[in-house]
Amino acid sequence: MLHIGCHLSSAEGFEAMGRTALSIGADTFQFFTRNPRGARAKDIDPQDAAALVQLLKEHRFAPIIAHAPYTLNPASADPKIRDFALLTFADDLKRMEYLPGNLYNFHPGSHVGQGVDKGIERIVEVLNRILDPKQHTTVLLETMSGKGSEIGGKFDELKRILDGVKQNQLLGVCLDTCHVSDAGYSLTQLDDTLAEFDKQVGLSLLKAVHINDSLNPPGSHKDRHAPIGQGTIGTKTLAGVINHPALKNLPFCLETPNDLDGYAREIKLLRSLYKG
Ligand code: FE
Ligand code: FE
Ligand code: ZN
Repeated sequence: MLHIGCHLSSAEGFEAMGRTALSIGADTFQFFTRNPRGARAKDIDPQDAAALVQLLKEHRFAPIIAHAPYTLNPASADPKIRDFALLTFADDLKRMEYLPGNLYNFHPGSHVGQGVDKGIERIVEVLNRILDPKQHTTVLLETMSGKGSEIGGKFDELKRILDGVKQNQLLGVCLDTCHVSDAGYSLTQLDDTLAEFDKQVGLSLLKAVHINDSLNPPGSHKDRHAPIGQGTIGTKTLAGVINHPALKNLPFCLETPNDLDGYAREIKLLRSLYKG
């Protein structure tokens, strides 16, 4: 069975997100842990979190994904910016213990002129300080488009982060179809791209997929998402992604520009293209 959902607003609360997901035929979803700008998160309501945990279990959801604010930069040269990323990640992971067994996804960061090596070193340091062997959340590095000085646009960069982290059994990777296409990895030649991923990182570390079309051509290093079938990747190629033997059992999450009805339609479309 295809596990699929979309990005939802966490403003409505945990259990409400679960109900919204059910109402659009989803069995997973993603939410921002706080305002994407990284502002203070509102206090966790343990009862609301417990109600979501119950709902996820009852309706056999695939793991859900909490997304870190995308403005955080653990690779920054500025110690204040790195500290802010570290404190936010640590606080988010503490909160995620109310939703045990799920995923926490973040953008590795941008080296902003320091060079890839230094950037990777800084990301590794932050991860080594926040990961706790007792935590119940898997932390995912997202594949990036390689826009600007972004780290993670090459599989090998993700591998180097994974290799540097001591508690790397707590880490995995989230593959974003828009980002990998923009980064120059072919989705029409998906076997080759996944073979490359397997060689560089290891397919067993792939824990989730962001299923998006792209506004820009392959290799553009842009990162602008398009609705399914309205971009340069196309429905047929994305159907190949959800049906690929190495991917088909993972949770797929839409991050396409859409309202709830649009998400419901895309979920229905992708379910109809899934060969089971
Ligand atoms: Fe992301
Ligand atoms: Fe994404
Ligand atoms: Zn993106």
